[in-house]
Amino acid sequence: MKNKVMMSGAAVLMSISLAACSAAKEEVKAVKTEAKTAAKAWSYEGETGPEHWGDLDAANAACANGKEQSPINLESAKAKSVENGELQVRYAPTVFSIANNGHTVQANAKAGTNVLTVDGVEYKLAQFHFHTPSEHELNGKGYDMELHLVHKSADNKLAVLGILLKAGQKNEQLAALWAAMPKEKTTADVALNAPVDLEALLPKNRATFRYNGSLTTPPCSEGVKWTVLEQPVEISEEQIKQFKSLFPDNHRPVQPVNSREVTKH
Ligand SMILES: [Zn+2]
Repeated sequence: MKNKVMMSGAAVLMSISLAACSAAKEEVKAVKTEAKTAAKAWSYEGETGPEHWGDLDAANAACANGKEQSPINLESAKAKSVENGELQVRYAPTVFSIANNGHTVQANAKAGTNVLTVDGVEYKLAQFHFHTPSEHELNGKGYDMELHLVHKSADNKLAVLGILLKAGQKNEQLAALWAAMPKEKTTADVALNAPVDLEALLPKNRATFRYNGSLTTPPCSEGVKWTVLEQPVEISEEQIKQFKSLFPDNHRPVQPVNSREVTKH
């Protein structure tokens, strides 16, 4: 009897030290993993929010030190009017696949059939995604949401077309995408059966602002040609509510314009 108790006591001791040992190993592993991922993690609030993006990773330096950052407040009175240079897009109804990347809902294009031409350079649509509230402001006013159509040139330069979205009529062009919107972060894209008609998504008035800016998410890389349509497009309160239920706030605040010229076309 005594022997048995002693044996099980020793067994308990042994298993405790084994557990402690493996727990310590697990902890070391966890710290290492955390250190690795902490450099990349960013969000839209608190310690990892927009104010801290530059400190999270050396690769994000432009977020803090860049002089040509996006978004900005677009001011009609300060924009230089340019007669030529109307919006040049060649968009056709396209089937996209949808991803929830944890920061936004993004529609990825497989074929490069949608083209935006800026200053004579062709940029093919790679993806589009959404922010709420809007990232750009128009004469100091923000909007409910903003759509970003991200295009890439043959030499990998980026041109983004921004469309401000405001509460109003239901947006039929976005209905199929909204119905398929993944609620959780996806590991693989969800196929969207119905094509999206981007041409029909554009506002009637094609007046735009243009300026040189950056990505509005880390690493905030500059050299991005921005075109923002002045006239907002409507989207229903219901559609805004659905997006906000996944992303209550995924916008970067406006950045200093500095010495940049904003043109109005
Ligand atoms: Zn964006």
